[in-house]
Amino acid sequence: MTANPSASTKHNNYIGGEWLAPSTGNWAPNRNPADLDDVIGQYPVSGEKDALEAIAAAKAAFPAWAATPGPARGRFLAKAVELFRARVDDFARMLCREEGKTFAESKGEVNKGIALFEFYAGEGFRTHGKTLPSESRQTLTFTLRQPLGVVALVTPWNFPFAIPAWKSAPALVTGNTVVLKPASNTPGTATMMAQVMHDAGFPKGVFNLITGPGGAVGNTLVDSKDVQAVSFTGSNSIGLALNQRCAKRGIRVTAEMGGKNPVVVLDDADLELAATGILQGAFGSTGQRCTATSRVVVQRGIAPKLTELLVAGAKKLKVGNGLETGIDMGPAVDEAQLKTDLDYIQYGLSEGAKLLCGGNQLKEGALARGFFVEPTIFSGVKIGHRLHQEEVFGPLIAIVEVGDFEEALHAANAVEFGLSASIYTRDANTAMKFVERSEVGMVHVNNPTVGGEAQLPFGGWKSTGVGEREMAEEGAMFFTQLKTVFFDYTGAARTSKNY
Ligand code: NAP
Repeated sequence: MTANPSASTKHNNYIGGEWLAPSTGNWAPNRNPADLDDVIGQYPVSGEKDALEAIAAAKAAFPAWAATPGPARGRFLAKAVELFRARVDDFARMLCREEGKTFAESKGEVNKGIALFEFYAGEGFRTHGKTLPSESRQTLTFTLRQPLGVVALVTPWNFPFAIPAWKSAPALVTGNTVVLKPASNTPGTATMMAQVMHDAGFPKGVFNLITGPGGAVGNTLVDSKDVQAVSFTGSNSIGLALNQRCAKRGIRVTAEMGGKNPVVVLDDADLELAATGILQGAFGSTGQRCTATSRVVVQRGIAPKLTELLVAGAKKLKVGNGLETGIDMGPAVDEAQLKTDLDYIQYGLSEGAKLLCGGNQLKEGALARGFFVEPTIFSGVKIGHRLHQEEVFGPLIAIVEVGDFEEALHAANAVEFGLSASIYTRDANTAMKFVERSEVGMVHVNNPTVGGEAQLPFGGWKSTGVGEREMAEEGAMFFTQLKTVFFDYTGAARTSKNY
């Protein structure tokens, strides 16, 4: 590890167009989970007072921003796109260092976030209502979409650029002002994003950032009467509690939460293609994706061949610090996540599943300075097992064997989550049956369970998601409220003859 001169640099919150020190006087070190000696910088541990200040700044900025024409708001986003593009490698390096995914994956995430800003920059021209015929003569009836006000965005650590992007861009372009609270594990990427928003010239108070603990900062945002909506992505336990708090105030909330995503492989599938997709979906980003492949549901006849391909592929993966070249998989994000991964390996063993590869923490040499775990595969997993039911959020595949398509569909759907699912088959009819009957928000055919595109709605069914889909036009609709207008242009007092 090389000495890092920025380790002691104190970063600040971005409130009302100014970089402000936290009122608590506390900062916390942001460490690289691949190398705990690598301290990225010191980030604010903010408190209630900072959250209230950020809300007040956003509230003051709202009237002028809401009155700014949509296309003009979009141009601020377009300027941010230009600045992000010029800093892609810097963002990717920060993301890689604080979250742990490989540099290539980090760069992919940054480019995806930029595409979201790009998409929503254009949405400034397109946010539309409807005109509909009125029952009355000479009356124009139409709807307007108007902003909500101050919105709070609470985001997780696993996509520290893309998720703040897919929430901030639609909120801003539709005329809302924003307070972003990123996860405590990943304040650096969000702080760089705030710098871009500043450099892009967004008026003071339109975009605000505070870093700090979910409890003090998150609860203040959610409970403030000046916050009109909350957009949350994270775990089910926090998301559902937050949803209840918002319900008490009757405000709008979207909460995108956990996943337990299956890949079904039928006996007519291209097995090489399926194995490649499963390995990518399960071990990419160290399995720390809400859409990660965590279950493989395979027809018995081809299970031995598919398993052989998966184990061979997993054993080839090079685990290490994502900043180094040739690394395929980075670390768990922190000690707690590492412990969760290792705990689930124990649950698998104690429930009678068969460990085919992996299963250990990696501690040799430089790996001892980070939170590394081997890519792990279990076979013989049953529907009732914890490995089948619960989100691990780590590099772990649970293989379930089934007899036919109906059994496969049953296993795929037999979980509380409903985010993403995939099927590998060469039969279009079977693929469409799966598309129709799969209980998820996103279905893939002959493709990994992961991925999303700016223009396509993203989100889950069942206990994965509460509220509107994110990304795409739907993502912007969440941040608007409808107004129905009845415009009588008779120019004279209405009489019964007009009707
Ligand atoms: P988390 O622990 O639920 O945290 C998410 C955010 O909520 C963080 O900013 C956290 O702050 C904040 N928070 C914590 N307590 C809060 C409170 N009382 N009030 C308001 N905010 C609070 O989730 P995570 O561990 O960061 O992320 C992993 C989870 O996200 C996984 O379950 C994954 O499936 C899910 N996820 C879902 C999607 C999707 O689209 N469905 C996408 C990505 C991730 P602190 O960091 O300070 O605790």
